[in-house]
Amino acid sequence: MEYIGFTYVSNFVSKRVEEILFEAYNDTNKLFEEWKLPIRLVYLDKLTLEPGYLITIETPEGKVRLFPLDVLVDFLDYRLKVEIEKNDGMNMNKILGITSFPLTSRDKYFGFYEKFLGFQAERLGRQVMLLSMRPFESDSMRMALKILDNPLADEDLKRLAVRVLSRELPAFKMRLIKGMLHEIGHSFGLEHCSNDCVMNSPQTLEEWDSRFLGYCDPCRQKLEKNLNSSWKD
Ligand SMILES: [Zn+2]
Ligand SMILES: [Zn+2]
Repeated sequence: MEYIGFTYVSNFVSKRVEEILFEAYNDTNKLFEEWKLPIRLVYLDKLTLEPGYLITIETPEGKVRLFPLDVLVDFLDYRLKVEIEKNDGMNMNKILGITSFPLTSRDKYFGFYEKFLGFQAERLGRQVMLLSMRPFESDSMRMALKILDNPLADEDLKRLAVRVLSRELPAFKMRLIKGMLHEIGHSFGLEHCSNDCVMNSPQTLEEWDSRFLGYCDPCRQKLEKNLNSSWKD
């Protein structure tokens, strides 16, 4: 079995989104089990980063406060290293971290396409994967969460927000699961493909919503082959 550490940067995550993250984590493991793929996510607790690392950058969407990519990779790599030392002999050399803000480095703002796809880095044989959930959130979902976080919001407005979320959150969860499967696929050597498959990267949210939840046959075969060869190492 190949284990992948799973964590998220908790600083800006609301309670409701946190619940969805755990559902996505559980559902992804259920899918791997169903597909008889020897991959499992292992929850490693959430990461809370010091606000001192926050930077403000100008983006096409206006000013955004976030943690720089290199800081995130360092933190995740350190977290994975600690876990490997604790569980000597456990087959785990990958970690997947979810962030609520767009991924960016100090001097570069990734476009829509890149944000969707997350980020991968390798450190001494350890694989760090980062995925931003931000591109998977619809505007109405963000607005509804804001209303519910506001103690002064009107009761009718809150009821409306709850209704919007009951429609938006399940869609958000599916997008997130597909994004996690996409990054995990990359971490086992899969490249982008053009079939109806999670490895076919989307240009729009609608396209991602209509995408098949799973790997196409060629991707799956390659994934199985790469999993087998990594066992022999
Ligand atoms: Zn990709
Ligand atoms: Zn494919």
